[in-house]
Amino acid sequence: MPSAVVIGSGFGGIASALRLKSLGLDVHLVERLASIGGRAQFFEHHQYKHDAGPTVITAPFLFDELFALFGEQRSDAIEFRELSPWYRFIYPDGDHFDYGGSIEHTLDQIKRICPQDCAGYQALVDHSKAIYQVGFEQLADQPFHHFSSMLKQIPRLASLRCDRSVWDVVNKYLTHDKLKQAFSIQPLLVGGSPFDTTSIYGLIHYLERAYGIHFAMGGTGALVKALENLMLRQGVSIQTNATVSEIIFSKRRACGVKLATGEQIAADYVVFNGDPMHMYRNMIADPLLPMQTRLKRDTSKLSMGLYVLFFGTDRQYQDVAHHTIWLGKRYKELLDDIFHRQILADDFSLYIHRPTATDASFAPAGHDSFYVLAPVPHQGANINWQQQEPQLRERIVHALDATLLPNLKQHIQAPFAMTPDDFASDYLSHLGAGFSIAPLFRQSAWFRFHNKAEGFENLFLTGAGTHPGAGMPGVISSAKVVARLVQDAMEKKAA
Ligand SMILES: Cc1cc2nc3c(=O)[nH]c(=O)nc-3n(C[C@H](O)[C@H](O)[C@H](O)COP(=O)(O)OP(=O)(O)OC[C@H]3O[C@@H](n4cnc5c(N)ncnc54)[C@H](O)[C@@H]3O)c2cc1C
Repeated sequence: MPSAVVIGSGFGGIASALRLKSLGLDVHLVERLASIGGRAQFFEHHQYKHDAGPTVITAPFLFDELFALFGEQRSDAIEFRELSPWYRFIYPDGDHFDYGGSIEHTLDQIKRICPQDCAGYQALVDHSKAIYQVGFEQLADQPFHHFSSMLKQIPRLASLRCDRSVWDVVNKYLTHDKLKQAFSIQPLLVGGSPFDTTSIYGLIHYLERAYGIHFAMGGTGALVKALENLMLRQGVSIQTNATVSEIIFSKRRACGVKLATGEQIAADYVVFNGDPMHMYRNMIADPLLPMQTRLKRDTSKLSMGLYVLFFGTDRQYQDVAHHTIWLGKRYKELLDDIFHRQILADDFSLYIHRPTATDASFAPAGHDSFYVLAPVPHQGANINWQQQEPQLRERIVHALDATLLPNLKQHIQAPFAMTPDDFASDYLSHLGAGFSIAPLFRQSAWFRFHNKAEGFENLFLTGAGTHPGAGMPGVISSAKVVARLVQDAMEKKAA
């Protein structure tokens, strides 16, 4: 039986392990942390539970497919509950906008803010659908490691003007600033500024409209657990607390991996699920890398960093939605500070997660569990997080105390935080970036790190830094590409 070693257990690694297992390979998954899930770690801190990363499930069918590979039903293992609203936007003047549910409901909300934008919104949804039909349905699970595959797609991508940014497109259809912000902010969920991210990511809007937004009951951590159980039932072997330091090659063939302890694991196929910027810097000797890969590694622009503050409260904030986007006064200027000027500004915009709005198991009765996320510059900005973290925490708690979470200062419990330093040391993410390389047009499809490492016969990449990109739908789609490429390689070997 051919064997595969998968390095890293984010959703890309888990989905690759399952797909390769379903192809009949003997699969060994290696993860450096104590538990699997990658950025979807699950913390139990004092009496509170917290998902560390992804919480918004936008393409539930991608998870269903993983269970269906083995004739099982996802719904038997974990419940996905549709949320309403999907997100609540809170503006600096205290106004809010509830987004989600039927298109009529969204139009009613838009009418309240700017009736003239109703027609534009419908045109925006149509545009997003057209991008979705190409970008998601046709390209997300296709390999892009040959330039010819890119050339073939250029007319379609050009007709949809994917060279424009998400902001450019939203700006074309909507006039009111509040609505432009609400409908352009999604690229931050995959690591890009709306002003720079290719409008291919405008498809997220249609993905939400078509399938809704769901929450995994028990948290994303429970979803990881359900997938872990599926892997174990199917005979995938899982090794945690094990860091791969090197990929071992014989000529142009990867023949296994070496762990930091010196232990070696042989395999016919190697799949890497960490940050490609890390792998191409630290795990393969430079002379083995083709010039094209080194160039990409040395010139790629990274996504932003993330500051995540976790806490509980000894009271409940019943009026706070499950997902809230709390917008500060500055929009483009703040994003420029984060992405271009790379400074830690005094102000911020926040994403606030209150799982207890849907699932009481995250906190004791009468309490809430929260995480608050602020996009910040990555480590390239040389911010001293040991000094800055307590100050940023204080500013955020102060701002929420004065607005969304009255008297938070008196009710906050058991706070702790993650900064870009933690993303670098925990996940080996280059410069602590939240989502590997940024979702720019010049870093998409063929221009992104390839799912098949160039120059090697049997080394594959899955996860946020590879095609199609970050976010759970992206990385799970990248595993489909990897499975297809491994299958091709096995057929070629057998022929
Ligand atoms: C705070 C936050 C919120 C987010 N919210 C959402 C959301 O709501 N919806 C959504 O769809 N997406 C969201 N995302 C994005 C999404 O979580 C990620 O893009 C996706 O989970 C990344 O998966 P991945 O397959 O790239 O692997 P990762 O999650 O990056 O995991 C890679 C794993 O590989 C391991 N590893 C790396 N190198 C080695 C090595 N050498 N040896 C052994 N192990 C190694 C790491 O420890 C890590 O566990 C969010 C991300 C963050 C950080």
